[in-house]
Amino acid sequence: MKAVVVRQGETEPTVIEVDEPTPEPGEALLRTLRVGIDGTDHEVIEGNHGGFPDGDEYQILGHEAVAVVADANGTDLDEGQLVVPTVRRPREDGNEYFERGEPDMAPDGQYVERGIVGAHGYMTELFTSAPRYLVPVPDAFAESGFLVEPISNTEKALEHAHATRSAFEWTPETGLVLGNGPLGLLTLAMLASEPTDFSRTYCLGRRDRPDPTIDIIERLGATYVDSRETPVAAIPDAHEPMDFVYEATGYAKHAFETVHALRSNGVGALLGIPDDWTFEIDGGAFHREIVLQNKALFGSVNSNVRHYEAAIDSLSAFPDWLVDDLITGVHEPAAAPAAFETSDETIKTVVEFDTV
Ligand code: NDP
Repeated sequence: MKAVVVRQGETEPTVIEVDEPTPEPGEALLRTLRVGIDGTDHEVIEGNHGGFPDGDEYQILGHEAVAVVADANGTDLDEGQLVVPTVRRPREDGNEYFERGEPDMAPDGQYVERGIVGAHGYMTELFTSAPRYLVPVPDAFAESGFLVEPISNTEKALEHAHATRSAFEWTPETGLVLGNGPLGLLTLAMLASEPTDFSRTYCLGRRDRPDPTIDIIERLGATYVDSRETPVAAIPDAHEPMDFVYEATGYAKHAFETVHALRSNGVGALLGIPDDWTFEIDGGAFHREIVLQNKALFGSVNSNVRHYEAAIDSLSAFPDWLVDDLITGVHEPAAAPAAFETSDETIKTVVEFDTV
């Protein structure tokens, strides 16, 4: 069967033939429908993030998938059920974070991530998984269900944002998303719709019009902010201070500038994954502002099953046009490398292995 991989020493995806997997006892066999591509996949291919499975000379890519149960293999899954697989698996049985359903909080080294670090991903015709790592999704999700994984990352970030502000009355009205990539646009859609429902939303990019991402931002009722004209720290004066900032650029200066864009008592979530970068900041102003204005800044990675379940509701609530506009390319497995090509017209591409 076909698999889309990156080989050791290479920085391009390749399509290869691999053996069909056989499920172990307690595992089901899944037939892949669609696998989405995001910024993390590009970082994996370029060797900036993740790592190969032990002893293998290639890694099967892909961590955003929707699949159908092909062989329940004695598990309590129903054949034909649509599922979205989670990403993390424990390095060793009995890991306390996985045992209590919080794999997203496991420290580095205690987990592998399918398609990212130390384990093969889902960009292949068939894969196997234990049922506890599969989240059932509605039949209507055959084409869009791969978006549950990225949305779940934002469900987690929003949950943590509210948790940091739970000691007092916090009713956020203004939300700013940094980054108009797929993660930023999905998050903007979540902030702009029920149940989050921020009154005013903004999204930062660095593109000229006409641009399909700016069209989506404005169709969602948000204000586009061009970072070349209005740096993050200048946003409170140019627009208004923000109750919530969600960073999805991977541009490391934004981690610090986020604090200056926040209103008193606001919270910033950092999701981007930058390379090493040394630069100067006014550390005194950064520290002082956090303390004297009761601001919070936190990092967030990955998500757990609860967040996937919340993501199903969020995705169901999106307008149909949004998913259509976000998916700018659907590619056959044999042509999968084309799905990794980027341009200003490309937002979200998928490799489609099968349909229902
Ligand atoms: P993309 O790289 O597709 O999107 C990043 C966007 O940010 C691009 O549209 C880019 O604009 C924009 N951007 C970058 N720098 C600036 C800047 N200085 N000013 C304005 N806009 C800027 O990635 P994704 O949307 O897939 O993901 C976003 C980040 O989140 C990535 O770093 C990814 O690795 C990370 N990530 C983290 C997760 C987590 O759990 N923490 C989960 C998934 C992703 P342009 O296209 O014009 O260059």
